[in-house]
Amino acid sequence: MTTIKTRIADAVDALAGDLEALSHRIHAHPELGYQEVQASGWLADFLDAQGFAVERGVGGVATAFRATFDAGAGPTIAILCEYDALPGIGHACGHNVIAAAGAGAGAALAALKDGLPAGRIHVIGTPAEEGGGGKVKLIEGGLFRHVDAAMMVHGFDRNVLHQTLLGVTRVAFEFAGKAAHASVDPWAGVNALDACIQTFNAVAMLRQQMRPDCRVHGIITDGGVVENVIPERAAATFSVRAPRIDGMWNLYERVVACAEGAAQATGTTLEVRPIDVVYEPMHSNEVLLELFGANLQALGVAIDPPMADRTASSDIGNVSQVVPTIHPWIAIAPRGTAIHTRDFLHAAVGPTARAGLLAGAKAMALTTLDLLSNPDLVAKAKAAHQPQ
Ligand SMILES: [Zn+2]
Ligand SMILES: [Zn+2]
Repeated sequence: MTTIKTRIADAVDALAGDLEALSHRIHAHPELGYQEVQASGWLADFLDAQGFAVERGVGGVATAFRATFDAGAGPTIAILCEYDALPGIGHACGHNVIAAAGAGAGAALAALKDGLPAGRIHVIGTPAEEGGGGKVKLIEGGLFRHVDAAMMVHGFDRNVLHQTLLGVTRVAFEFAGKAAHASVDPWAGVNALDACIQTFNAVAMLRQQMRPDCRVHGIITDGGVVENVIPERAAATFSVRAPRIDGMWNLYERVVACAEGAAQATGTTLEVRPIDVVYEPMHSNEVLLELFGANLQALGVAIDPPMADRTASSDIGNVSQVVPTIHPWIAIAPRGTAIHTRDFLHAAVGPTARAGLLAGAKAMALTTLDLLSNPDLVAKAKAAHQPQ
């Protein structure tokens, strides 16, 4: 590595204790999406102390922040921090590590002071990834308007540069029928639960014709009150996921058609309501990924192959549709530990998490340095940005 790169890696190591403490503090105080008052405050305070100009509550989101280190006219690079926890199981997605890695990357670059090439670094605090789509609000709030490239890392049980993140849209179906005594006058009723069940059966048939990289999954949220009354109301929610936006809406229309057909078949009326914001598919940027991968390898971290069939969704996908973006996965848990589990929760404060935090912070800082020192790379990344 060059001298300046070694200095950046050393700066992360010098902050290792502080960064791990920050990660552990966030882990010990899990806060749900849009309620991350403590986590966003601790991160903002840390970056403020490292010489960043910090704006809190940006984009109209109280628990979002933007910390800026301005080194003159040049590219603008955004490093993103997530810090929301999961209901019931806390930081089982390891967002405490994402947060500390992002703050550490920013701090290491700021430590170069006058030695930093011209440009602007934003560390952006993005709330509510596990539902609520914080990044979508920040895009709407203009936080990515002048950003040339964005990056974050996510914890995993291995180091993977790119995993497919599917677009996802969520929908609620509510069926209205007519109550009747289920034994005395069943013929007088209109069974809303039947419509729900018929929807699931139709979706199950549709699944056979779905592409293998798409997902549809649902639950019944209201299946009636008592079995001696024909249910007059029943409801279900579904998630529809696909690797492309057009494919996602196409599949969504077919799932809605399943519910419409079920309503027709049962004589119920159907109300279709969208739930939550749409998470768009991840459009990864090869130019940025290559830089990040080379930096990770220069740090002595071995890169694992992607896993084709393990796909999730994230609002980083929405960011990737508007600016060149990467979302590499960094080992913070022993191999075989699945995210959103108790094991991953415990691993997120273990020794692998410390190593992953530092490697992620260094690789993001080094990649940002590459982009600031060579604006041609930014132009290349932008040319490669062709989301579908
Ligand atoms: Zn998660
Ligand atoms: Zn996550």
